[in-house]
Amino acid sequence: MPSLYSYYTQVLFLSFIIVNHAVEIYLTRRQLEALQKHALTPPPEFSSYLTDVEHQKAIQYSSAKLKFSQFHLMYSAALIMYWFPLRGAEKLFLSISATGMHRDVLFLLSITLIQFILNLPWTIISTFYLEEKFGFNKSTPKIFTIDRLKGLVLGGVIGIPLLYAVLYLFQALGNWWWLASFLLVTGFQFFLVWIYPTVIAPLFNKFYPLEGEELKQGIEKLVEHAGFNAKEVFVMDASRRSAHGNAYFTGFGKNKRVVFFDTLLKQLEIKEILAILAHELGHMKLKHIPKSMITSIFFSFIGFWLMGQLTDQVWFYNGHFLRATSPGILLLIFTQALPVYTFWFSPIMAWISRKREFEADAYAAKETDPKDLIHGLLKLYQHNASPVVSDKYYSGFYHSHPPALQRIKKLESFKS
Ligand SMILES: [Zn+2]
Repeated sequence: MPSLYSYYTQVLFLSFIIVNHAVEIYLTRRQLEALQKHALTPPPEFSSYLTDVEHQKAIQYSSAKLKFSQFHLMYSAALIMYWFPLRGAEKLFLSISATGMHRDVLFLLSITLIQFILNLPWTIISTFYLEEKFGFNKSTPKIFTIDRLKGLVLGGVIGIPLLYAVLYLFQALGNWWWLASFLLVTGFQFFLVWIYPTVIAPLFNKFYPLEGEELKQGIEKLVEHAGFNAKEVFVMDASRRSAHGNAYFTGFGKNKRVVFFDTLLKQLEIKEILAILAHELGHMKLKHIPKSMITSIFFSFIGFWLMGQLTDQVWFYNGHFLRATSPGILLLIFTQALPVYTFWFSPIMAWISRKREFEADAYAAKETDPKDLIHGLLKLYQHNASPVVSDKYYSGFYHSHPPALQRIKKLESFKS
């Protein structure tokens, strides 16, 4: 029986890899076609906000990124084929002469490093060719290299001790290792989210308070209403790396922050900045961060529980084309192969995220004039060269934010 299980798992796993890849390429093609259909002029609803030239730039920029992403999709599919069906991961594991926990740690570290190195050319082309070509790149090879090194060191400092701890629990606790590991990893994630705004993000960017009296007064009023502190509103020097503008809300408890990119502030009028702040405060007021943390804790519990059940099931390892069994290999399957199955959750997660964007917009529309948010959003589309058109299915599958037209229509319905 178990050998039959492993055979079915192999078939299922391979089918998922192929079907997912086909779906991704198909959706990308659809999106490219949708963009081409509107290559010259924006839909009439946008014609008073966007010039034809601005719209054409957005279409060209977005199409170039999509064409590039098609190659990246192929690369990702080839890599997963190499690790699993072609047994690349198994070969790597067998070539490591260390034993016990150290072998698992070295194995997972090697995989991570190999993927990091293989990914570099993609990031370099994207930053120094694509972004550069459309005038968005502000990063230099020096900043780029320092960023990557910092990321590696940070990943090592956080990841290696955590990995050893999980492997230790595996050895020490037997059947219940999964529950202990789940608690440890979840606790650690909380800790990371909590220290992110004040410890991790400042390793990469500078954060400073907002300037300007009129802006400050407007902010005071909004944040007071939301039960937030104006000291928690920051500007980030995003212009060091890119001309793209944005704003985000992060952290929880005493460590929560609204962050504006300095690039965004340069592009918007005060009332538009306030409308976007109101949107971010909406995310906070509606507890979107704790809610998504609960969802991710739930999925991670299921993941660890499954790992616990599958620890000794040899067919599961064989089902993913791995004949060697070890906790390190189990972790590899769960981190690298599992996304092949959970791929089908992405449209659901994207849908939830879009629902939350509508909710934050509705909050902003109560606190500020909806017209200001509409203008602010359209300026974001304009300055970021984001196209205001998209394919229905592509957008439904991937987009964390609602399509421009839907979002604006909804905001217009709030106008008094
Ligand atoms: Zn939002």
